[in-house]
Amino acid sequence: MELTPNQLAFREGMSRMGAGVNLITSNGNSGRHGFVASAVCSVTDTPPTLLVCVNRNAFVHDRFLENGALCVNVLAAHHQDLSRVFARYVEGVDRFSYGDWLTLSTGSPVLRDANVAFDCRIGSVLEQGSHSVMFCEIKAVHLPEKPDRGLVYFSRDYHHLEAEKPRGDNLSEASKA
Ligand SMILES: Cc1cc2nc3c(=O)[nH]c(=O)nc-3n(C[C@H](O)[C@H](O)[C@H](O)COP(=O)(O)OP(=O)(O)OC[C@H]3O[C@@H](n4cnc5c(N)ncnc54)[C@H](O)[C@@H]3O)c2cc1C
Repeated sequence: MELTPNQLAFREGMSRMGAGVNLITSNGNSGRHGFVASAVCSVTDTPPTLLVCVNRNAFVHDRFLENGALCVNVLAAHHQDLSRVFARYVEGVDRFSYGDWLTLSTGSPVLRDANVAFDCRIGSVLEQGSHSVMFCEIKAVHLPEKPDRGLVYFSRDYHHLEAEKPRGDNLSEASKA
């Protein structure tokens, strides 16, 4: 399908908006599934809720709804290869043979060394164009003690996130000028 100029500009624009990389997993009546998503956002802490945008044509879409639960595993820099494994289905490959998994409240796979994982029940779902916005109520949070550098998708590639080195000296130089 040919994209309109507006769609092309939107995609190019969004490629310049860095976003965290998350592995969204689920287990239940429809089986165990997972995919990579950057369209994840905090909604409110009353009650603790986040949202995940899922393409309605994606294989996982209806299966996640059938399971009624999902886990948002926030990936770290050392998960870059794992992210690639989950970003594209390859027949015969059990994607869950990669990674170290546990379960918490809903039975969705929780990545043991994620920077943080939010185990959720799917609440309301809003359809907007090609995607569903799934509002997810957080039932348990997995918070490993030592998070690694973050994993970010920006300019159509992966980047590792770390704090910029202190620039105290440069700042005092700048204020002298
Ligand atoms: C950095 C990044 C961010 C992303 N962010 C988002 C996002 O926010 N939201 C979003 O919706 N997508 C996002 N994506 C895309 C998403 O991760 C998947 O790449 C996309 O859904 C395609 O998934 P897929 O290849 O598993 O197969 P699909 O395109 O979903 O399915 C293709 C075909 O593969 C087969 N198939 C797939 N999975 C299985 C299975 N488990 N068992 C048997 N057959 C199967 C089926 O025949 C199916 O028809 C992102 C991708 C990247 C890299």
